[in-house]
Amino acid sequence: MYPLNFLFPYNTIKCESLDGVNVLMSTKQPRCVAFDCDGVLADSLSSWKTLHDHFGTDSSDLLKKFMAGEFTDSEFMAQDIALWKAKHGSISQDEIFRAYSGCKLMKGAREVIADLKAANIHVAIISAGVDIYVSSIAAMLKADDWIANGFNFDEEGMLLDQGVVRIPSMGKDEAVNNLLRILDCSPEDLVCVGDSSMDLSMWVEGSTFIGFNPTRQTAIDAFEAANITVVNSKDLNDLRPYLGL
Ligand SMILES: [Mg+2]
Repeated sequence: MYPLNFLFPYNTIKCESLDGVNVLMSTKQPRCVAFDCDGVLADSLSSWKTLHDHFGTDSSDLLKKFMAGEFTDSEFMAQDIALWKAKHGSISQDEIFRAYSGCKLMKGAREVIADLKAANIHVAIISAGVDIYVSSIAAMLKADDWIANGFNFDEEGMLLDQGVVRIPSMGKDEAVNNLLRILDCSPEDLVCVGDSSMDLSMWVEGSTFIGFNPTRQTAIDAFEAANITVVNSKDLNDLRPYLGL
């Protein structure tokens, strides 16, 4: 009889996908894990919504129009900024920092990232969220790399009208492919983790995508349609079996 490892290149475990079909999941350690930030490493749905809550504005109409393709990421950001300024007047960088003061890491984030790094696994954060916030999460967790969208400030540290688009919300694949190229890492050695339908753009061919803690119905539906493994939990420790930890 052949050992299991002959039939399957990696040690495997059985896990259940959304449609209840058992699939074999690799538990070989990846070389790189790329996380979304909002709702995955950070226990808040959206770093943009945190700013709207802070300034008492509502972007739900803008979001609907954006999802309907009525404007670009860059126009969406400029309209968000215009809403805040209409309500608050000019906005300092310190004010933006203050808006995030109550935000928390997802349970298990510190331990899981520390253990990935101890195993020499490269940890990257690929976020369409706000750079000021994502960089502080990356620093707290000692992530190797991060990229996010963000703001421009003038010499006095006041917020300018145009944001900076580095990660189009529907197009995280470019950042993922750049990361693989820089690390000289094969997609088979990459695991991506995200909580929204837009995060599926991280799932480049050959790589593994794990859905974590989907809350929006669009994410639940998209993950089901993609037939991927979903970890319905608010504790990142529950990802360990899928990361070879
Ligand atoms: Mg997210």
